[in-house]
Amino acid sequence: MPKSPQKHLDPRQPLVVDTTKLPRRPGSTRALKRVVPAPADLGLELISVPVGSDLELDLSLTSVSEGVYVSGNVRGSLSGECGRCLNEISQSFDVSLAELFAYEDSTTEETTDEDEVGRMQGDLIDLEAAVRDAVVLTLPTNPVCRQDCPGLCPECGVHLDDLPADHSHEDVDPRWAALRTMSAEQPTAASPQYQQNRIEE
Ligand SMILES: [Zn+2]
Ligand SMILES: [Zn+2]
Repeated sequence: MPKSPQKHLDPRQPLVVDTTKLPRRPGSTRALKRVVPAPADLGLELISVPVGSDLELDLSLTSVSEGVYVSGNVRGSLSGECGRCLNEISQSFDVSLAELFAYEDSTTEETTDEDEVGRMQGDLIDLEAAVRDAVVLTLPTNPVCRQDCPGLCPECGVHLDDLPADHSHEDVDPRWAALRTMSAEQPTAASPQYQQNRIEE
């Protein structure tokens, strides 16, 4: 299987780690604590890590025979929109990350697929994909501002939290009831009813 072309890593990139100072003797460890600006598009459509916001890496690097094992936590903030009430969601996250990066020309590199085990480039590790996986996999596809968010009244669009428990649209002013009946029928611009209403306005 041909190797996919690797982009050349730049050690100055915030999510690129230089392991030069980590002895390659298995068992050697080094802490990696770093606060970096979050990359773009880190998240899902409805909830994501704001680009440029603080992403805190609290990791340890451990030499193993085939490469470097990176484990620890990634923390940061999320912003999004509640899928039920559209209120803004602003919360923090703390996810764990554990990933092996294989040395170039190691048996692991030769016997695994790049999707299964990360690759090192010399002494450099690109953490972006691992961070992306760790964060995105924990995000809800339907984020809510809180688990028991009741959402909006389907009739008037007001947050149900802000309405009395007996809120209902059954006994409304008859004029509004008439409007609701009309909108339920969804007259089109071409329908006689719509034309008639337009004239009456
Ligand atoms: Zn909500
Ligand atoms: Zn209502």
